[in-house]
Amino acid sequence: MNNVTLSIGGNLGNRMENIRRALDYIEERIGKIKQRSSVYESEPWGFEAEHRFLNAVVVAETALSPEVVLREAQEIENIMGRIRSGSGYSSRTMDIDILFFNDDIINTPTLTVPHPRLHERHFVLLPLAEIMPDRVHPVLRESVKDLLAIPLDVLSLSIP
Ligand code: ADP
Ligand code: MG
Repeated sequence: MNNVTLSIGGNLGNRMENIRRALDYIEERIGKIKQRSSVYESEPWGFEAEHRFLNAVVVAETALSPEVVLREAQEIENIMGRIRSGSGYSSRTMDIDILFFNDDIINTPTLTVPHPRLHERHFVLLPLAEIMPDRVHPVLRESVKDLLAIPLDVLSLSIP
């Protein structure tokens, strides 16, 4: 069995109902949900949109491979009526991303795990820190709670 951590969220339609539906689909198609965070509300990230997002993080036990989990996640997005509008961030009924897959490091053209922007997003780090503060990011080698403590928009430089 594999341990997969997923980020789920959207900003269109009945957002809380969509979170519930996504949880049901994940149990049906990916595996038993072992942990789930509270739901967090946030402003859209990287683009202008009318509606705020609801996001959560869940941990599931799955027999599927990472590639198949991605395919199932995209299938759930499609069933839930997500319309992909080109590149970049956009409004959606449901986005499901793979944050962690065991402690695996995956870099293929279609899949990067841990998720490459996980550590830049409060709407991912906050729910992650709620359910797994001490989980260590296998690439950055920092715990989730330490990643959260790093200010996201400020970098310190030493004077040369
Ligand atoms: P985003 O989630 O960044 O807003 P999309 O959901 O449209 O954008 O995903 C774009 C592509 O990202 C997907 O087609 C998928 O192949 C790729 N991808 C790479 N790594 C991951 C990951 N860890 N989880 C989900 N999708 C990923
Ligand atoms: Mg996505």
